[in-house]
Amino acid sequence: MKKKLLIILSILIVVGGVYFTWTKTQKKEEPKEETSEKQEETPKETEKEEEKEEPKEEEVQPEEPEQPEEPIVEPSRHTNYPGTTSKGYTVEVIDGIAYINGILIANKTYSLPSDYYPGGLLNDFLNPYYEMQAAASNDGISLEIISGFRSYDDQDWIYNNYVDRDGKEAADRYSARPGHSEHQTGLAADINSLYQSWGETAEGIWLNTHCADYGFIIRYPQGKESITGYMYEPWHIRYVGKDLAQKLYNNGDWITLEEYFGITSQY
Ligand SMILES: [Zn+2]
Repeated sequence: MKKKLLIILSILIVVGGVYFTWTKTQKKEEPKEETSEKQEETPKETEKEEEKEEPKEEEVQPEEPEQPEEPIVEPSRHTNYPGTTSKGYTVEVIDGIAYINGILIANKTYSLPSDYYPGGLLNDFLNPYYEMQAAASNDGISLEIISGFRSYDDQDWIYNNYVDRDGKEAADRYSARPGHSEHQTGLAADINSLYQSWGETAEGIWLNTHCADYGFIIRYPQGKESITGYMYEPWHIRYVGKDLAQKLYNNGDWITLEEYFGITSQY
C-alpha cells in the first residue's frame, strides 16, 4: 500500500511538476506577446521623444550663444566716434552726447547716456510743432502726437517687449535699443498712426510735404532702411531746424541725416 501511495504521490509530483513548468512557460509567452507589443510601441514613443528633443536641443543651442549678447542690448556703446565723418563734418561729444553742426545725433551708432533725461518734449520741438499743427488744422488736417518723449528706462521696457514678441533681429528693424532712441532726445515724436499705410493718407501726405517748413524731418524715409537702420516710419518726425530740414526734404526725396553728415547707424 505504501509503495502504491508513493507511486501515486510521485506521479502526482511529476504531473504537478509538468503542469507547473507548463504554466510557467505559458506565463512567459504571454508577457512576451505583451512586451513585443510594447516594444513596438515604445520605439515609436522614443522616436517621438527623440524627434521632440532634437529640435529642442537645436533651439537651445543658438539661444546659448545669445545669452552673452543680452548685456550688449543695454550698453552697446560706440565710445570711439570718428572725429571727422566721411563727409568731413566734425563730431563733437558733449556730456556723452554726439553733435554734428549742432545737431544732436541718436541712432544705432550714436547713443545717449542712460541718465540723459530731458523729461518731455523740448520747446525746440513743441513750439514749431504747435505752429505746424495749427497750419495743418487750417488745411483740414488733424495732427496728434501719439508718442513723444520716452526715457531710457521706457525704451528699455518697450524694446525688450518687442524682442520677447518678435525676436531681436526683427525688433531691431523698428525699435531702438535703450540709449539709441530719438524719443529719448525730446526732439522727436510719432504722429497719428504707427501704420506705414498712414503715409499715403491725406494726413501722412500733408506731414511729409510740410513738416520741413517747420524744421521737422521724416527721420526714417521709405527705402532707406539700410542707411538709417530702421524701417519706413512716415509718422516719426525729428526736429532739426528749418535750414537743415529743407535741405533734407530735397523736394520730397528725403536725404537722411546719415547720408547728409556721412555717418553710420549700426550696432
Ligand atoms: Zn518714433
